[in-house]
Amino acid sequence: MSSQPQSVPSYLHADDLGPWGNYLRQVDRVAPYLGSLSRWLETLKRPKRILIVDVPIELDNGTVAHFEGYRVQHNVSRGPGKGGVRYHQDVTLSEVMALSAWMSVKNAAVNVPYGGAKGGIRVDPRALSRGELERVTRRYTSEIGIIIGPNTDIPAPDVNTNEQIMAWMMDTYSMNQGQTATGVVTGKPITLGGSLGRREATGRGVFVVGCEAARRTGLSIEGARVAVQGFGNVGGIAARLFQEAGAKVVAVQDHTGSLYKSGGINAGALLEHVAKTGGVAGFAGAEVMANDEFWSVETDILVPAALENQITEKNAGKIRTKIIVEGANGPTTTAADDILHDKGILVIPDVVANAGGVTVSYFEWVQDFSSFFWTENEINERLERVMREAFTAVWQVSSEQKVSMRTAAFIVACKRILMAREMRGLYP
Ligand code: GLU
Repeated sequence: MSSQPQSVPSYLHADDLGPWGNYLRQVDRVAPYLGSLSRWLETLKRPKRILIVDVPIELDNGTVAHFEGYRVQHNVSRGPGKGGVRYHQDVTLSEVMALSAWMSVKNAAVNVPYGGAKGGIRVDPRALSRGELERVTRRYTSEIGIIIGPNTDIPAPDVNTNEQIMAWMMDTYSMNQGQTATGVVTGKPITLGGSLGRREATGRGVFVVGCEAARRTGLSIEGARVAVQGFGNVGGIAARLFQEAGAKVVAVQDHTGSLYKSGGINAGALLEHVAKTGGVAGFAGAEVMANDEFWSVETDILVPAALENQITEKNAGKIRTKIIVEGANGPTTTAADDILHDKGILVIPDVVANAGGVTVSYFEWVQDFSSFFWTENEINERLERVMREAFTAVWQVSSEQKVSMRTAAFIVACKRILMAREMRGLYP
């Protein structure tokens, strides 16, 4: 058969690619820098394996509800699939495919021995009782149980999933296997084989690379103005660490509203408020701001740490900051990337900036296998080292090749993935 490879899988409509389309454009930008490895590039444009599952549960009122669940293994050339599970009413296959691909790139960029995978359920977890949430989690885990495992594909928390959900996933998989398999998921509670430092790891990684970017561009963190979109486990922790280092958190936005305070919002107090109420709205220590004003607040560091496609060609022109550190996955479209580049804004891409979470997930998995647990200091030191090394490697390629940090990260990561692909060879 002589037909050419297609980079758009037939189950997606070519004009409606969503986040997957954004990912494909990012990959296309790397092609000219891959030399002979570009022969394998199509590998990155096709997920290896996609599983769509029906997740039926009995609701508390006695009726039966069905939810759509996904697990996508994008690439396993460098090791088992690895990546979180997201619960959100707007989750789509295109989104999970893109997120799984960004995990492949991220894991290669920080050089942890994993491929990339991601999962999701199209459900609003806030509308479920605790019992319903547990039933959804257990049924989903059981359905994807045919492709996950400590040596094959290891889920973890992502948007709206947490340690408790990981505990239920671990238990469900273990019950089905007839033995406790702690290494099947990461981000577990400490008492069930979780790792110290995991909960804060993504936010800490954002902070570490943010400081590196500031240092290399001559920006002082002391007194720097920081804005954060998303005040959960990533944005909230990063904000607190920037504040502890002397920066001022001047603006915050989440799904409940936007806040501003020129003298700096107390990030610790806001974290407590969010833990109690579920969002930043109603926090007394700052002024309320219209949501669309958030992007034009003048800052030194901007951290999008919510969902994908937040910085687009519509708002990129308004942004007044020096450095963007992507805590979220895929927050910036390629069109916005070009606008930010023309404005001289330095963007530290998601695949480096938010890799702290999966890095400590890797430490957790290693600790589970050896049943030997490390101190929090050891974990944070190793995390900082991994983040700095990844940042430095990408910074160097960016300066040498005169490309954005995103394209540089993709060059570093895609070379590692495709090198593994080439050395393994095609089967059969
Ligand atoms: N969900 C996180 C991410 O997007 C962590 C994944 C993991 O620890 O496997 O990187």
